[in-house]
Amino acid sequence: MRVLVIGAGVGGLAIANGLLGQGHEVQVFEHADTLRTSGAGITVWSNGTAALRELGIDIEPSGRKLHSLRSLTDSGRLLWEADLGEVTERLGSPTVQIARRELIAEMAAALPPEVLHFGRRCVGVVERPDSVAVEFDDGSEAVGDLLIGADGQRSVVRRELLGGDPAKPTGWASWQGLTRSDLPVAHGHQTLNIAGRNAHCGLIPTGDGLLHWWFDMPWKEGDPVLSVADLRAVFAGWPDPVEQLLASVTDDDLGFFPHIRHKVPHVWGGPRSTLLGDAVHAMPPAVAQAANQTLEDAWLLTQYLSGAGDDLAPRLRAYEQERRPRALKVSRTAALTSAQRSTPLQRLAKFPGWLATRSQVASLRSGSNVLRGFAPRPAIQAA
Ligand SMILES: Cc1cc2nc3c(=O)[nH]c(=O)nc-3n(C[C@H](O)[C@H](O)[C@H](O)COP(=O)(O)OP(=O)(O)OC[C@H]3O[C@@H](n4cnc5c(N)ncnc54)[C@H](O)[C@@H]3O)c2cc1C
Repeated sequence: MRVLVIGAGVGGLAIANGLLGQGHEVQVFEHADTLRTSGAGITVWSNGTAALRELGIDIEPSGRKLHSLRSLTDSGRLLWEADLGEVTERLGSPTVQIARRELIAEMAAALPPEVLHFGRRCVGVVERPDSVAVEFDDGSEAVGDLLIGADGQRSVVRRELLGGDPAKPTGWASWQGLTRSDLPVAHGHQTLNIAGRNAHCGLIPTGDGLLHWWFDMPWKEGDPVLSVADLRAVFAGWPDPVEQLLASVTDDDLGFFPHIRHKVPHVWGGPRSTLLGDAVHAMPPAVAQAANQTLEDAWLLTQYLSGAGDDLAPRLRAYEQERRPRALKVSRTAALTSAQRSTPLQRLAKFPGWLATRSQVASLRSGSNVLRGFAPRPAIQAA
């Protein structure tokens, strides 16, 4: 089958690896002139590493295996600590923090170079009974049997296939960076999340002495975009090593992005098209699952396209029906977590480690297809 993929981000590169492995003919079109390798770190949870493993990609050597996830209040009190080693044992796959540029590089390196086409911005889609055509802004066109829109939050493919329903701002934003650091947290295996009344932050070792750090606060269009000096003022007095970190970084290290969230439609495409990743279920970063849900999509779609022929449309709809409830659940949790201003009661609560670990396992399982294995829907089994 000739497959056209729009977007060479996490999802586009993942599905290209999966489908090439099954012998499909794949072409990926990216509007940028090279791979977009900016961004900070990505937490690839057990479901994401399981999906990557099935797609033939091992990120452990380039990332940092995480052993624990610790949550504190802004006064430094321990709320809970989940044992990610036990999560790995229970789910059969580790949690790995990796620089986004490394993840992109690993997935691109596994593809033959002729698969990737840069400088090609998709501007239109025409679906015909026996083919699908993509129009690019340079006037060129590509024709295939299947189109996969992996073009991120402001997806043109989604707009073309489903009409306008752009992702909506959630009223929060992140200030983040990835910097080399002498702080002990950068050289360990523990993620630190710190929750205040109206602000949260986190520090995650990302391998090779790199530290991914983020600060989340309410923000709406027109509000000022804070500088490092502003962050130092807001987070003054927070537990170690927040002040030390902020003393060591500059405005050049700082990235900013407002949080957005999509409605997740019931159907994601036409007879010869579908979507994956942020194009269909962009979500706030609160539970760090956006990339993982994207890898889940790529894995499941690869399974459903194995041996596809005239029965393409039911396979695409079955993929969407399997993925939608799980992606939606994770997106809802992310929205709730992100908008949460912790109450005094929550700030007094303390959860035992075993409960934090079990709830981590349960929440990863409930948002995952790959951790449950592939069981095709009856319509596909019969086809
Ligand atoms: C530059 C960048 C930095 C990021 N940094 C982080 C980070 O630090 N931490 C984190 O957790 N997540 C980050 N993300 C988001 C993260 O990659 C996604 O949430 C997640 O991995 C979902 O992947 P995706 O493939 O759906 O979308 P993306 O990874 O966003 O990929 C979409 C791709 O489609 C391309 N594209 C868009 N429109 C068109 C078009 N019309 N025609 C052709 N190509 C098009 C884009 O250039 C991009 O390469 C970043 C995304 C980008 C693009």
